[in-house]
Amino acid sequence: GGGEVPDLAAPGPAERAARTGEALREAAGRPGGWTLLDHPMLALEVAGSDAFLEPDAVVVHPDGGWSVVEIKSFPMLDGSADAAKVGAAARQAAVYVLALEEAAARLPERPGGPPDVRHQVLLVCPKDFSNLPTGAAVDVRKQRAVTRRQLSRLTRVEELAAALPDDVCFDPGRPADALLRSVESVPAAYAPECLSACELAFHCRERARAAGDVSALGRSVRGELGGLTSVEEVLTAAASPESAGEGADPGADATVAALRRA
Ligand code: SF4
Repeated sequence: GGGEVPDLAAPGPAERAARTGEALREAAGRPGGWTLLDHPMLALEVAGSDAFLEPDAVVVHPDGGWSVVEIKSFPMLDGSADAAKVGAAARQAAVYVLALEEAAARLPERPGGPPDVRHQVLLVCPKDFSNLPTGAAVDVRKQRAVTRRQLSRLTRVEELAAALPDDVCFDPGRPADALLRSVESVPAAYAPECLSACELAFHCRERARAAGDVSALGRSVRGELGGLTSVEEVLTAAASPESAGEGADPGADATVAALRRA
């Protein structure tokens, strides 16, 4: 009968992740019942460091399987919701699935093997603009595979750090000019998308503009321009038919031709 809803409270993210791990282990030792983990904390190794993630809920099924539950505020109308929003929710849930798989692998060995982490997640949304919840199973296999591949390609933090000059230090307690020198010594690939995501955006934008870097115009523009990386190069290529590229890359040649027609 009934289900368990264990208390997952703990002071910091690492402690909360440990507490979640404990609750999952206890649930695994209690087959046949339901357990609901309300806002558990999961750790996922990203580029060699732990990232902490907080799904809305994780359900442990009576058969021992684990499912991710995502609660969203966009409505489900007649059983279907905005595809882009569902896609974003699926990508987010796929990361939780990977983190749960790591948690499953950390459980002590058991006769039946580690718990099965379901690749279908439960998406809960308001039903038809009401305040009643409704749910749909969303298959996140594809998103999980893509995310796993991307994570495996990330460069480890240690390797990034090893590539920096020895005196680079980002301690906010250091004097402003020393910090600025450290920031300046690291190459950046500014794009307008940075503005909504990164506190260094204004600094990087200024630097990209000062260098005439085409990436400041947007990632798609940079992609279109191929080998042409500065605004000056683009203008020169567009203005002078003669400069058309011996030795330039073939993608850039096509772009140069297109620019001249423009
Ligand atoms: S703004 Fe932030 S994310 Fe963008 S290039 Fe600069 S440091 Fe990187």
